[in-house]
Amino acid sequence: TIGMLVIGQDGHIVAGTSTNGANHKIPGRVGDSPIPGAGAYADSEVGAAAGTGDGDVMMRFLPSFLAVEQMRSGVTPEAAAQEAISRIAKKYPSFFGGVIAVNKDGVIGAACNGMEKFPFSVMNDTIDAPIVNYVNCT
Ligand code: ASP
Repeated sequence: TIGMLVIGQDGHIVAGTSTNGANHKIPGRVGDSPIPGAGAYADSEVGAAAGTGDGDVMMRFLPSFLAVEQMRSGVTPEAAAQEAISRIAKKYPSFFGGVIAVNKDGVIGAACNGMEKFPFSVMNDTIDAPIVNYVNCT
């Protein structure tokens, strides 16, 4: 999945996803990516989040919604993403996935499980070209 979180110049925050879905998926499968709150979620008052990975597991936990609600309650994007991942890992310790989150101030966080590192790209008006960041998984 490609999850994209964008803060417009007017402060409007949006999230979107694009995915090829799961390998060997059955015809008609709808994964997490198009489900609001699962694949992505945004609220211009708070921020946005998006997930990638094993959607059949992740979508049961609405990780993107959870990460945004965590940020609404005041935690950092990094802690919000980690909480979204930890909730899933508690029930599915070996699941494969990652969550990115950004708050309305443009602070970015990410967390992951089931891989070594999780890459995500960042672009803003302080840099000329996108940069790739990595977060180590827990
Ligand atoms: N989350 C997607 C799905 O399960 C797959 C992916 O992230 O690559 O449909």
